[in-house]
Amino acid sequence: MANYSHSRLSTFEQCRYRYKLQYIDRVKVDVPTTVEAFLGDLVHRALEKLYVDLGFQKMNSEKEILSFYDNLWDREWTDSILIVKNEYRAENYKKMGQNYISDYYTHYHPFDQMTVIGIETQDMLTLPDGNKYHVRIDRLGCRGSTYFVCDYKTNSRMKNKAELDEDRQLAMYSLWVKNMFPDAKKVVLLWHMLAFDKEAVSERTEEQLEKLQQDTMKIISELESCTEFPTSVSGLCKYCSYKKICPSFSHKVELEEKMLKKFKEDDGVKLVDEYSKLLAEKNMIENKAGEVKADLVEFARQKEIDMVYGSNEKASVKEYKKIVYPQDKEKITRVLKEKGLYDENSMVCYSKLNSKILKNDIDKQIIGMVEEEKDYRVSLSKKP
Ligand code: SF4
Repeated sequence: MANYSHSRLSTFEQCRYRYKLQYIDRVKVDVPTTVEAFLGDLVHRALEKLYVDLGFQKMNSEKEILSFYDNLWDREWTDSILIVKNEYRAENYKKMGQNYISDYYTHYHPFDQMTVIGIETQDMLTLPDGNKYHVRIDRLGCRGSTYFVCDYKTNSRMKNKAELDEDRQLAMYSLWVKNMFPDAKKVVLLWHMLAFDKEAVSERTEEQLEKLQQDTMKIISELESCTEFPTSVSGLCKYCSYKKICPSFSHKVELEEKMLKKFKEDDGVKLVDEYSKLLAEKNMIENKAGEVKADLVEFARQKEIDMVYGSNEKASVKEYKKIVYPQDKEKITRVLKEKGLYDENSMVCYSKLNSKILKNDIDKQIIGMVEEEKDYRVSLSKKP
């Protein structure tokens, strides 16, 4: 049995290769702190102080909390913190954090919306399969038998309803709340979207939570039995610290590290450039051949001949009847089946069959009849 967290499962879902590096091989890489993470951490710590002090009957003024945040910023900021959006400076981000705290303070002062039960709560939820799920709640509160799992978000994008209703992280925490606090009749998932001074809320029914728990255990079981860890390139790659050793990006990183003038000397660059040029020429030739073929047909039609002679070869131009089927094949397939004509007129769909064989999702006799070989697909796309 092992411990799992939301970020561990999300990593597996997003990119298995990264999951392997991070959680199985435990490869150590220099992970630069991004300014967004730095800002988020400091805002969390300022709001944590606000509520911890309130527990000791100390009400900080807005100025005191802002000064706490400013001091943290000035003490902990280093130039190694990464600003990806380089049109902005550290000062811009510092000000954003000040605004988040200030808006929050004005909105919720005197902070009596709920009884605070836990701040930065850390515990483990035991799943029915014996595995444990890490629970970390920014602030847990209650009003009577309604409990609130509160999360501070410093994202510059508002979460939409569908995202809230599908969010696994807080929903899993609500399972823990229900276990720990049997008087909890209702658990509200509450995201403080600090950049917008807005609350985003969602709730789950018992059935949804049961399904979520089952789905979570399913991912864990998939992850534990996983033997293939391919890369999965997505928009999230730009935040991945393993790019330098990732097969989908290491060549790009290597090129970026080379001097620009040496760039073209790289064999990989030459090969991709040549391959891309040849494919472009092939497309052009195919298009041109299509046009010449149409001209040939027209030539033969006008001359009412069916053989056109060139210097070394001749072209036969014969009219034939081409059958055009309706886009929607369902009806014709049904009629073929009804008339008992389907089997003799249908073909095996090899791409479907391949996928079933690869997933071991077909009769063993079929699997025994085929062999697996390694092959490569090479496809070109624009560089990110
Ligand atoms: S860079 Fe992208 S594809 Fe490569 S390991 Fe990271 S997340 Fe996966």
